[in-house]
Amino acid sequence: MSNPDADLLERMLTMGKPVTLKLDLDCGFDGTFTGANIIGEITGREKPDEAVVIGGHLDSWDPGTGAIDDGAGVAIATGAAHLIGTLPQHPKRSIRVVAFANEEAGMFGGHSFGDAHKADVAKFTIGAESDFGSGRVWRLSSKVKPEALGAIDQIMQVLAPLGVERGVDGRARGGDFGAMGDAGMAMLDLTQDGTRYFDWHHTANDTLDKIDPKDLAQNMAVYAVFSYLAAEADGDFGSAPGAFATEKK
Ligand SMILES: [Zn+2]
Repeated sequence: MSNPDADLLERMLTMGKPVTLKLDLDCGFDGTFTGANIIGEITGREKPDEAVVIGGHLDSWDPGTGAIDDGAGVAIATGAAHLIGTLPQHPKRSIRVVAFANEEAGMFGGHSFGDAHKADVAKFTIGAESDFGSGRVWRLSSKVKPEALGAIDQIMQVLAPLGVERGVDGRARGGDFGAMGDAGMAMLDLTQDGTRYFDWHHTANDTLDKIDPKDLAQNMAVYAVFSYLAAEADGDFGSAPGAFATEKK
């Protein structure tokens, strides 16, 4: 039951009269099918096989439309890559956008992406998934090698005017990119304002009217800034097989 419906039920109960509740449930597991991650990229001008990876997930729960979970994330990553693609020249490395299949039932797309690419983890410069609606990004946490912290500081100089503060280093989970993170990919966590997120997500209330275009634009700007600067960086962020192995969530 969604929070707005629970609030309504609570209000009816306070009136002291019997309340009848009818539940229409259709829960179960109907077997497996083949899905696909959808991947696009702005190809890098100098190191096209190295990529900054950003994305969201394509699926949503059955009620509602999945606008905040996770249409917003796919829009943020795609919009950021589109902005970079309109620049006069592409960045040094590629910007790859992944719209993951079937996150909700167990990160199937994320795991298969990891299986397909973990042997090449060093080619994945840094990654971040957007999967928390369209609330503004207010904090950047990182998981990069110590020598790359200066580059993160430079990215922060551009992000600070957008209202983003610096979080810790050593902790960035990655969502659908988690399998790549476990394999040794450097990662960012761009923490969003989730004040209203859990009022709506996974319910019939997850619809487009819950998205503030200005907040969505701030997210897109944050992803565009970090993706572009990371793709242009002189050095790398430490992605390597087995890197960050001491970090356990
Ligand atoms: Zn999600």
